[in-house]
Amino acid sequence: MEPLYVTTPIYYANGEPHLGHTYTTIVADTLRRFWCARGRRTFVVTGTDEHGDKIAQAAAAAGVDPKTWVDRISAAFRDTWRAAGLEYDAFVRTTDAHHVAFVRGVLADIHAKGDIYFGSYRGLYCYGCERFYQERELVDGLCPDHRTAPTEIAEENYFFRMGAYQERLAALLDAHPELITPDGYRKEVVALLRDPIGDLCISRPKSRLTWGISLPFDDRYVTYVWFDALLSYVSALDERGLRAELWPHAEHLIAKDILKPHAIYWPTMLMAAGLPSYRRLAVHGYWQMDAGKMSKSVGNVVRPLEMKARYGMDAFRYYLLRDMAFGQDAEFSEAALVARLNGDLANGLGNLASRVLRMQQSYFAGAVQPRAPEPADEALREAFAVARTEIDAHVAEFAFHRALEALWRALDHANKYVTTTAPFTLAKDPARRPRVGAILHELCEALRVTAQLVEPFLPETACRLADLLGLPAERLADLDLAWGAAFPAGHATVAPVALFPRVETPA
Ligand SMILES: [Zn+2]
Repeated sequence: MEPLYVTTPIYYANGEPHLGHTYTTIVADTLRRFWCARGRRTFVVTGTDEHGDKIAQAAAAAGVDPKTWVDRISAAFRDTWRAAGLEYDAFVRTTDAHHVAFVRGVLADIHAKGDIYFGSYRGLYCYGCERFYQERELVDGLCPDHRTAPTEIAEENYFFRMGAYQERLAALLDAHPELITPDGYRKEVVALLRDPIGDLCISRPKSRLTWGISLPFDDRYVTYVWFDALLSYVSALDERGLRAELWPHAEHLIAKDILKPHAIYWPTMLMAAGLPSYRRLAVHGYWQMDAGKMSKSVGNVVRPLEMKARYGMDAFRYYLLRDMAFGQDAEFSEAALVARLNGDLANGLGNLASRVLRMQQSYFAGAVQPRAPEPADEALREAFAVARTEIDAHVAEFAFHRALEALWRALDHANKYVTTTAPFTLAKDPARRPRVGAILHELCEALRVTAQLVEPFLPETACRLADLLGLPAERLADLDLAWGAAFPAGHATVAPVALFPRVETPA
């Protein structure tokens, strides 16, 4: 299997982590766990984007210097991911010395090749977005994101000859339609490429902004924040000596608001720098609340650790992965989260586990009995084999909601199997005790496979389920363990505790 290199965006350090950041990071953590379990070399990078106008402004508003500010915010991101149990292999900061040197090296190289030139520019600039807008991109003359009028600015700056790579970019997308997924976003980019993309202004005069990386060929300017930030995807590997091994397998996770920098600026920058393209750009939609974009600028903030405290991290993860079709927008609501928690988690999975383990305790003092497969047992095993195949196919396509649906179909099957085989009725007849033991053995296997399959999505639940089944972590990691091989006769399971206590619907 080829290695996998996954990146989240490096998050802009102008405020604390919110729902949008958390969703992308949960997806990265899920992919990391999923592919590690399948034996694939996996490397995940996240980080913070720490230069630019907005950060200088946020620091000034907080009465501190920019470095103190970004140290604080960057630490808040790392602390949040740690507390939320979200794992990664490297955390990159754009103020790190290695990253700064790497960016300056690439700039000097592209400049020496003649793809960066000095020129004057007059345009409409949005300070909130830190970029120039073309007239046709504005909505009623206003920035579409900030709904404020852009300021007309004329100044001399450095430009990257992005337009010179337009045809090569169009040809790349043509030859590799899988480069941008879901396909709707590829089409959006193809449409953008029908008009000239022009050149990209990549400097900001220090008279206006000093908080950035100085251009190596002109100290009066700092680097445009995107030209700095995007390079972190390579600099993080470069610093660890992993560039040759991993860069060709890069897959970027982003939200749709940063499609253009990732689908147009970034591949042309890579071409100019003589680096291979990334492998895939996977684009997700927005979490909406009150029909508005989830961001601090419109005041809708969901704090991940508050959600964890209220519902448990796994319930929060489950809701986010189950209710958003990757690529499309979704509506965030705590009532919907609670409905998933009480329904799918407490009733579907939690109830199955507690019924099985309670019967195991009361009939056999927790000891697993020998198997004696009957057709209904084979059908149960088959339901979980199908779920595994479906989960693998769906995760490869970023369809996490479908993967969870597939697992929950198998859990439904298991709950029906309990009803139809009725071990609680058979147990009244001492002669049927061996059959009761065999049924519970099949159900313990169903729970064991559930723990394995659910681990990338709900890691805490997987551990708790394994503990209840009396299984060590290694047994959980071995996905190829045959059905029936996990529980030698007499293996001890544990008395059940509720995996997901039900929660009252929020007012
Ligand atoms: Zn704006």
